[in-house]
Amino acid sequence: RCVVTPASSSPAVAAAATEVPEKMKAWAYDEYGDAGVLKLDEAVSVPPVGEDQVLVRVEAAALNPVDSKRRMGKFRATDSPLPTVPGYDMAGVVVKVGSQVKNLKEGDEVYGHISEKVLEGPKQYGSLAEYTAVEEKLVALKPKSIDFAQAAGLPLAIETAHEGLERAGFSAGKSILVLGGAGGVGSLVIQLAKQVYKASTVAATASTPKLELLRCLGADVAIDYTTENFEDMPDKYDVVFDAVGQGDKAVKVVKEGGSVVVLTGAVAPPGFRFVVTSYGSVLEQLNPYLESGKVKPIVDPKGPFPFSQVVEAFSYLETGRATGKVVISPI
Ligand code: NDP
Repeated sequence: RCVVTPASSSPAVAAAATEVPEKMKAWAYDEYGDAGVLKLDEAVSVPPVGEDQVLVRVEAAALNPVDSKRRMGKFRATDSPLPTVPGYDMAGVVVKVGSQVKNLKEGDEVYGHISEKVLEGPKQYGSLAEYTAVEEKLVALKPKSIDFAQAAGLPLAIETAHEGLERAGFSAGKSILVLGGAGGVGSLVIQLAKQVYKASTVAATASTPKLELLRCLGADVAIDYTTENFEDMPDKYDVVFDAVGQGDKAVKVVKEGGSVVVLTGAVAPPGFRFVVTSYGSVLEQLNPYLESGKVKPIVDPKGPFPFSQVVEAFSYLETGRATGKVVISPI
């Protein structure tokens, strides 16, 4: 019911290509700015593979708001040098392994968020490319029941959802309000809270057309922010997870002693902000829930966007109206 875009029925990608070319197609920018700075470069060098890394032939990638903020130059003080091949999220096939790689082998289907730290020294050669090099510890085997496009949308958002819930000390029997429940992160916070952590009550906010999706994802209470102000409602929650930038209002509806997770914007006590760290082990831990369908990837129905339409995909993401993830596939 909640599957906005069903899994593709195309057959699995053939085993790893034996020949890795020297040059590849990649989206890149050599100055900060709006989506117009992105250019499709047909001859970018395929990145070298470090000893703890695998080289992945990228089948699908996904966009995150942090890609846009980085491209606008918001993190230039700690960014990698230009030119940048953007993209943190990917799913694909391992085509080469470094000498210290322990578990992965050529042909493995993997997914992950490729930069351990999003803002501090992120990779210069990201996932919006035919190939990307990534540390083995940052990726996991792709659940077999989901396709590459669905898998690509998960890593950064689900790791953020998981890390926020962990930092908030979320556990069985607690209640939670998710601000921005229909977005990339929020759609996963709802599902993890309900299915993995066994929340007592999950409430979430979105605009009118997305309320049914919230319920379908597991929200007991779907709040239409176009007609109701959650901060004026009587209910209080053990945890408020703010994926919108409403930290000032979020703190008004948390129970005493509760936690307020804020992903963006201003933070007021007792709220706290954090920046996600990539862990392949988190994906491995959550794989059974993805494999069984208890937790579902939500791919925005305007996509997946083909690789030629990365600029259009970014423009759409930047409207702030995406449902679930904006995915790029095939690549
Ligand atoms: P998305 O682009 O997926 O969010 C879009 C969604 O936000 C839409 O579905 C929209 O629903 C919803 N939305 C917008 N305004 C409101 C509102 N006032 N109330 C309720 N819902 C609203 O973003 P992500 O989920 O990927 O990321 C959310 C934010 O968190 C971003 O700012 C991002 O940069 C940040 N972030 C921070 C991280 C960290 O480590 N600190 C990690 C990941 C994300 P509708 O159309 O109904 O308005």
